[in-house]
Amino acid sequence: MRVGVIGGGQLARMMVPPAVELGVDIAVLGESEDAAARIAVTTVGDYTDLDTVLAFARDVDVVTFDHEHVPQPVLRALVDAGVAVRPGPDALQHAQDKLVLRRRLQQLGVPQPEWAEVEDAAALADFLERVGGRAIVKTPRGGYDGHGVRVVSAPHEADDWLAEGPLLAEEVVDFQRELAQLVARRPSGDVALWPLVETVQGDGVCREVFAPAPRTTAVTERVSREIAHTVATSLGVTGVLAVELFETTDERVLVNELAMRPHNSGHWTIDGAVTSQFEQHLRAVLDLPLGSPEARAPWSAMVNVLGGPADGDLDSRVPRLMADQPTAKLHLYGKATRPGRKIGHVTASGEDLDDAVFIARAAAAFFED
Ligand code: ADP
Repeated sequence: MRVGVIGGGQLARMMVPPAVELGVDIAVLGESEDAAARIAVTTVGDYTDLDTVLAFARDVDVVTFDHEHVPQPVLRALVDAGVAVRPGPDALQHAQDKLVLRRRLQQLGVPQPEWAEVEDAAALADFLERVGGRAIVKTPRGGYDGHGVRVVSAPHEADDWLAEGPLLAEEVVDFQRELAQLVARRPSGDVALWPLVETVQGDGVCREVFAPAPRTTAVTERVSREIAHTVATSLGVTGVLAVELFETTDERVLVNELAMRPHNSGHWTIDGAVTSQFEQHLRAVLDLPLGSPEARAPWSAMVNVLGGPADGDLDSRVPRLMADQPTAKLHLYGKATRPGRKIGHVTASGEDLDDAVFIARAAAAFFED
């Protein structure tokens, strides 16, 4: 069996080890020669060009993704050509367009922030009045790592974005923390849910993940699982789905957004779960039985390596980290250092959360200046 992954970033790269273990061939359509996933058989090409993508798809049994940017017309043309696309375009549009997602979640009765589609400053003024004078506006498409998200308190503060088209406006949620519920679903319907995790963001970028989410009530846990199960099945998601959640100060759980691919909130599963999100994604898109999502240790902590040392010299830091933190599991993505860029992550697991957090942070700190 051969899986084709569109996108050559670290998510495609991390699918390679489980593919080797499962005896599955993996091919990647990357954007450039130096894609993080170049360790797999890589074709370099433009994922927005239908002929390029069709030619790539011809040699694989199923097409899946490292990112959500493949245009809908390309996805639909693949399906029309008989290619197995997982997740398919109907599901994927909910991860591509935040307005499409908000409408659908409303239909499903899934809890989410107060929201409105705003087409002009007058509509934004109405919404601001409704939510107490401050709102978050988001570009429906193309946002990532906090780009395309802005806090506004006056309608004209979004004029530049409104000139490009309608926006999603949301209440500013008073959340105590962010959570993520990861789930996998195969086409024949089986679903597997990993433990709920807590995610910590800084400047719109994921920094740390604690698994399972500490100090979580049984209700939050149950509701988060129900939401993820409902979304995965109602939207017909195949593969891994990450449901990003807010836990409010009054302990409600609201959906922020979805990712339909392995996700930063699930990197801990490589070392900390019986079945990693990358192995599970391969199983799910190939419609194979899913593996156990159970944790292998009571606690895991994942810390992202962001930016890296200014001198760009990762290699000299690695042996020092290894000597200092022999229980930390290091994952580097083969990327050049650049301020703010995700270039790797570290996971530590064990009986005690504070110990795991300490070890993972201490290890990641070897890459800071
Ligand atoms: P992106 O697509 O760039 O990841 P998100 O919609 O996830 O954008 O927003 C990025 C971050 O902004 C979130 O992780 C959260 O910290 C904050 N945020 C987003 N929406 C809201 C909201 N309605 N209320 C409060 N904070 C929000």
